[in-house]
Amino acid sequence: MASIDIQDIRKSFGTFSVLHGVDLTIRDGEFIVLVGPSGCGKSTLLRMIAGLEDVTSGDIRIDGRRVNDLAPKDRDIAMVFQSYALYPHMSVADNMSYSLKLRRTAKEKIASAVGGAAAKLGLDPLLERRPRALSGGQRQRVAMGRAIVRQPKAFLFDEPLSNLDARLREQMRAEIKKLHGDLHATSIYVTHDQIEAMTLADRIVAMHAGVVQQVGTPLDLYDRPANLFVAGFIGSPGMNFFEGCYLVSGDQAELRLANGVTLPVPQRAGIEPGATATLGIRPEHVVLDAHGALEAKVDLIEPTGFGIIMHVSIHDVPMKIFTLDRAMLDPGPAVRVDLPQERLHLFGTQGQRVE
Ligand code: ATP
Repeated sequence: MASIDIQDIRKSFGTFSVLHGVDLTIRDGEFIVLVGPSGCGKSTLLRMIAGLEDVTSGDIRIDGRRVNDLAPKDRDIAMVFQSYALYPHMSVADNMSYSLKLRRTAKEKIASAVGGAAAKLGLDPLLERRPRALSGGQRQRVAMGRAIVRQPKAFLFDEPLSNLDARLREQMRAEIKKLHGDLHATSIYVTHDQIEAMTLADRIVAMHAGVVQQVGTPLDLYDRPANLFVAGFIGSPGMNFFEGCYLVSGDQAELRLANGVTLPVPQRAGIEPGATATLGIRPEHVVLDAHGALEAKVDLIEPTGFGIIMHVSIHDVPMKIFTLDRAMLDPGPAVRVDLPQERLHLFGTQGQRVE
């Protein structure tokens, strides 16, 4: 297994700049998830680590060795793609053993590596089949098996579950997590799915527009998002935001919204009185209480089975509430709510978190 060190990596395609200086140190055995919206540059970064894309500037080191100019095959890294990239004319067993045969590995070693991976992934009954005779989930498993048999220094995953239906995604997600628990292989996993990021990662790297926004454990990002982008990206349904003017009088602070509504907020030395600030609260942290301080008009009820997403508005400012209380399936025209101070996030004029 290996550590991977990324220093000030930049990437341009012609005059189009995609990554603007990424720094990241990945520890031996760590499971890192790169997450961000489409086009933020996460696949490009992964492909540079694999050697499939040139580095415009900066250094990539694997176990301390600079690999910028090393061919992909010499980096000892295995990549699992969304498209599986299996050889259609080969059986599952041949697909899995191909890379070892190329390296002239002894037959008995190949058999034991393929046997071991097949057992881990439940592929034993499928070893003689061709890829076209497999389901999407089975193909994805073969793609992982092919990566495992090589015993590479690190695994790179590029949206490996995107082509699967929701149920299978859930199942494969758990399998990948279990596999990592067994192998403790250094892994970098790219996805735009924040649930995959939250459930799989030791640490998440949240990216936006070619810039790393925050690196931390899933709960770091959930509980203390570094800026408005991360706050809005992590969590479903997404965090509610209210933008307004931050005002202080005595030891009380409040946010005055454009429609004149004022919301009490905690005092923050990092925000100038009079400056624009944004308050954030997650839908699951809004408290429904008959004696709550705010009246909210009920606009729409979305039952999810597990819970209920309520779309409400406070003087025309929309907000979402998530509740497990089934009485809220039929709440009437308005409810009263509280926004507990300890659950509020405050962001300054530039969108940065202010503690
Ligand atoms: P997605 O989730 O959609 O795959 P991503 O975050 O992985 O998105 P990248 O695939 O890394 O994004 O692409 C980042 C940007 O670089 C995009 O604007 C893309 O159009 C551009 N890009 C990627 N490859 C090339 C290329 N070979 N030539 C020119 N532009 C490219």
